[in-house]
Amino acid sequence: MNEQARQYVEEFMSRLIARNPGEPEFHQAVREVAESLAPHIVASPVLLKMKILERIAEPERIVIFRVPWLNDRGEIEINRGYRVQMNSAIGPYKGGIRFHPSVNLSILKFLAFEQTFKNSLTTLPMGGAKGGSDFDPKGKSDNEVMKFCQSFMTELQRHIGQDTDVPAGDIGVGGREIGFLFGQYKRLRDEFSGTLTGKGRDWGGSPLRPEATGYGTCYFAEEMLATRGESLRGKRVCISGSGNVAQYACQKASQLGARVVTLSDSSGFIHDPEGIDAAKLDYVMELKNIYRGRIREYADRYPSATYHPGQRPWGIACDVAMPCATQNELNGDEAQTLVDNGCRCVVEGANMPSTPEAIRIFQQHRLLYAPGKAANAGGVATSGLEMTQNSMRLTWTPEEVDERLHAIMRNIHEVCVRYGTQEDGYVNYVAGANIGGFMKVANAMLAQGCV
Ligand code: NDP
Repeated sequence: MNEQARQYVEEFMSRLIARNPGEPEFHQAVREVAESLAPHIVASPVLLKMKILERIAEPERIVIFRVPWLNDRGEIEINRGYRVQMNSAIGPYKGGIRFHPSVNLSILKFLAFEQTFKNSLTTLPMGGAKGGSDFDPKGKSDNEVMKFCQSFMTELQRHIGQDTDVPAGDIGVGGREIGFLFGQYKRLRDEFSGTLTGKGRDWGGSPLRPEATGYGTCYFAEEMLATRGESLRGKRVCISGSGNVAQYACQKASQLGARVVTLSDSSGFIHDPEGIDAAKLDYVMELKNIYRGRIREYADRYPSATYHPGQRPWGIACDVAMPCATQNELNGDEAQTLVDNGCRCVVEGANMPSTPEAIRIFQQHRLLYAPGKAANAGGVATSGLEMTQNSMRLTWTPEEVDERLHAIMRNIHEVCVRYGTQEDGYVNYVAGANIGGFMKVANAMLAQGCV
């Protein structure tokens, strides 16, 4: 980066931090994008004059609301609900809903900001958004989750719609929660529309939407490895998380011939050197999705596995690492350990799981490293395909959806290579994804004027 670009980033970031104090995740996500884009922006008088980056980093609208509900003991509980509608330049707002006690404005603004670029990369017409609540579904009965979802949607329904804003799932929001949210939306608005994605297969959901983020991450890994004449076949893979993304990343990686040796949750990780095969993954899915149990129970069931409480899986030797749990779950020390243990490829199923220091280490050692906004875009892409199917009132076959998902991931990879290949031939997927995602949004904003 030249001096002019560096100065632009520092001035831009100091204004952003002053306007958005106490929001470290948001600052982190914006800085990464600003650093990738700065050389292009300072070279473009029109981008500078029209303040495109300044506008992209300012949410178009944020809604914050009270969510009161009655628990099973008849007591009133109060949570806070949010929807950050970041950018609608290329389509209706689109992005998941997260229910987790850590949810706050900083996290949702970082996620909505990243979503804008990710959605652009899919080539589908979707703007960027994110929402959620500090509600914790863990330990709650189905009845309590339903009561909460109904109260949350009673307010949210005023701000969303199939042509306005189309939410989906994220951490803590899976098929059960989408069902309750959709039921209340339909009841209040008296319409059966594609306003939420991730719906059940019998009521408007797309085939393969549950699988799409994890599958897409593996398809992206295959594309990356192919640039070095390799594939997932025979590779040892460390996956973090054991939720939606982790489960289907594990399934597809195994189907492609890899041996997945770890899974985790926020309490610890399991290491199974023999590999988590299809039968073991069936057990994990039942444990997590039906009984809502903990990953520790895997090691009780399978003697080949060990459980490591309070730890993350990055100390286990692997060829490919797939962080699929949450933001900032892989720091600089852990990145160095992965490198020292021979890891050659890091592909993010989660959003911003690697800290800036970890990314620096991966790139310095010339690892194949792909950020979530490129590698996990298969989830929102398939949500986009669900919106299309809902509008046409028909359902494609799983094979058709898989083919489209595969094509979208290949295309995102091509865009990253096009914009991210350095003079020495190394592909900087961070720069590639940021520049590739930015171009379309910036051009749309330029065309639409000062709005
Ligand atoms: P789930 O709620 O299904 O699973 C989340 C998993 O991550 C759980 O195993 C959970 O463990 C673990 N986890 C959550 N918070 C933490 C934490 N603070 N520390 C350690 N582990 C944690 O969510 P998803 O699988 O849907 O989402 C995972 C990631 O993928 C997120 O970053 C999300 O934004 C991203 N993503 C998801 C998409 C989707 O389609 N679902 C699309 C694109 C990205 P525990 O049970 O202990 O909380």
